[in-house]
Amino acid sequence: MEKDIEQILITSEQLQERISQLAAEVSAEYAGKKPIFIGVLKGVLMFMGDFVKQVNEPCEIDLMRIASYRGTGSKGSVDPVMDISTDIRGRHVVILEDIFDTGRSLTYVCNHLQAMEPASIKIVTLLDKPAKRLPEVTIKADYIGFTVPDEFVVGYGLDYNELYRNLPYIGILSPEVYQ
Ligand code: 5GP
Ligand code: MG
Repeated sequence: MEKDIEQILITSEQLQERISQLAAEVSAEYAGKKPIFIGVLKGVLMFMGDFVKQVNEPCEIDLMRIASYRGTGSKGSVDPVMDISTDIRGRHVVILEDIFDTGRSLTYVCNHLQAMEPASIKIVTLLDKPAKRLPEVTIKADYIGFTVPDEFVVGYGLDYNELYRNLPYIGILSPEVYQ
C-alpha cells in the first residue's frame, strides 16, 4: 500500500491538530444550537469520527451516502444511495465532507437537504481542491481543513476503487497505479 503513495501530503499529526481547531471553532459557533452533523459517506468516515469527538457541545449525527465518483475522474452525475433518518426541519445542519472537488456532490447534498427546510446549513470540508471547481457551482465551504493541489489523493477515508481508505494520512496516489 505504502509503495503506491508518491508523497505524503498531510500527516496523521497534522490532521489531528487541524481537526481539533475546526471542531473548536464549530463548537463555538453552534453553542446552544444542538446542531446535526450530516456526514457524506464513505469518504468522511475517519474525519467525522475524529471531528465529532472534539465537539464539546450537545449535537446529533446522521449520515447519507451518495455515489459520485469512479476511478480518478468525476463521473459527471450524483446518485443517492442512502438518505438521512432525522427530521431536520427547523434544525441547524452542518454537512461534513471529505473533499470539495468539482462541487457536484456538495451541490446535490445541499439542495437535497435544503428541500427538508432546515433552519440553516453550513459546510465543513476536510479538504478543498479548488482547481477543478465547475463554474456553475455557487456553494462555498464555510470551514476548510486543508487546501490541496490538483492531484488525486487517498487515505484517511479517501479511496481509489475502494482501497487505501485505511491509510492514517493523506497522500498523493502514484499515477502508475491508475494509468
Ligand atoms: P465533487 O462532486 O466535488 O467533484 O467530488 C466530491 C467527491 O469526489 C468526494 O467526496 C470524493 O469522493 C471524490 N473525490 C474528489 N477528488 C478526490 C481525490 O483527490 N481523491 C479521492 N479519493 N476522491 C476524490
Ligand atoms: Mg465523498
